[in-house]
Amino acid sequence: GGLSFTTGAGLLISIEQALNLIAGQVRRGVVESVPLTAVVGRRLAAKLCCDRDSPPFDKCMMDGFAVLASDIAPGVRLRVAGQLLAGQSVSTGVVAGTALRVMTGAPLPTGADAVIMVESARVEMRDEGEFATFDLENYSPGRNVMVRGASMRAGDPVFAAGHQFRAVDVGLLAETGHENVDVFALPDVAVLATGNELVRCGESPGAAKIRNSNGPMLTACIQSLSDSITDLGIASDQRDELAALVSHGLRHEVLVLSGGVSEGMADLVPEVMAELGVTEVFHKVAIKPGKPLWFGVLDRDGQRCLVFGLPGNPVSSLVCCEIFVRVALELMAGAEMPEAVATRAGSLTNDHTVKGDRPTWWPARHEIDDQGCLRITALPWLGSADMRCLAQANALAFFPPRSEAWPAGSIIRWRPVVA
Ligand code: AMP
Ligand code: MG
Repeated sequence: GGLSFTTGAGLLISIEQALNLIAGQVRRGVVESVPLTAVVGRRLAAKLCCDRDSPPFDKCMMDGFAVLASDIAPGVRLRVAGQLLAGQSVSTGVVAGTALRVMTGAPLPTGADAVIMVESARVEMRDEGEFATFDLENYSPGRNVMVRGASMRAGDPVFAAGHQFRAVDVGLLAETGHENVDVFALPDVAVLATGNELVRCGESPGAAKIRNSNGPMLTACIQSLSDSITDLGIASDQRDELAALVSHGLRHEVLVLSGGVSEGMADLVPEVMAELGVTEVFHKVAIKPGKPLWFGVLDRDGQRCLVFGLPGNPVSSLVCCEIFVRVALELMAGAEMPEAVATRAGSLTNDHTVKGDRPTWWPARHEIDDQGCLRITALPWLGSADMRCLAQANALAFFPPRSEAWPAGSIIRWRPVVA
């Protein structure tokens, strides 16, 4: 669904329509097996289950004495019949009047039903052996014992398909015996900046030239979403050179271009794509910044390449990369379609006015105030070429079209600058 907006240039599709068109072209990555220490950030291909109960036996949770709870009364003295370390199997059992010295992690000896911590015992050696005296009342069965299967039962699901792994999940994977894990492959991406005015960052720009900021920035933004990123450098706005470099880019699963998709005389990307057989899916979206966004697809030799032509202005490039390219890469890596583009809410700290008939993403800062509340400050921003402002932002604040004045205290939606 989603609304369309009329602008000077005609009817533009909405952000939601653009995202749905992108999602319609995405093919999920192949399934690959990775070692469990390499799963962080990756998504699980098929659900994983637990192969045994956890804990796998009734487990002593304290260094101390395994006892029969019914034996325990103030001043009771029990004979210590032996000891059991973690990793040892039960040899001796516990019978009335006796205790077994146990260490944390040891299986609860047969006969025992509780563990008393060593700090609560007075231990003495006598000719007849070792004895432990306790000054405790009403000691209940089960204390300091974790019952077999209390946490998980054999066969229980531990991770659902599509789960994105975090570092803490690795412990559970190891516990449940998953040394290698089937996850979706991350896409292979190429990045190409276009523009006669561009020089490499390491070069000194001559008259009327500027450094290529988008190539390195886009590469950095998608680093964690890609298995391999090829930076194809800079293409001039010259049809043959552009076509040659784009052809290289089309061998990858995703090609991200910047520049050359607007209305200027040197904006050749849509034409060059058509020449190279790339099918345009959409051109131009009702979004600010980022209106000229171009998206197309090429199928060749059973392989599909998704092509994103991002606008050249760096802030527009970044916003389009975060809102559109990111979703495509995440879907390829096994994610579901996100429910919302602006997922978070916060209270605006300053009066703010937005103009225009397109939904606007405005560089902002999110902060937690003294009360622990989330507050958003819209930054002074000079528009899509103002990288300095974007570098000070950690949020993109969302303002619907034609919304005009937003007084301080308004609750607004936002998303992180780079998720
Ligand atoms: P374009 O989309 O090609 O019309 O470019 C729009 C604006 O973005 C122009 O001012 C370009 O000089 C600038 N621009 C284009 N590509 C880049 C880039 N890779 N790095 C920095 N600025 C760029
Ligand atoms: Mg250009």
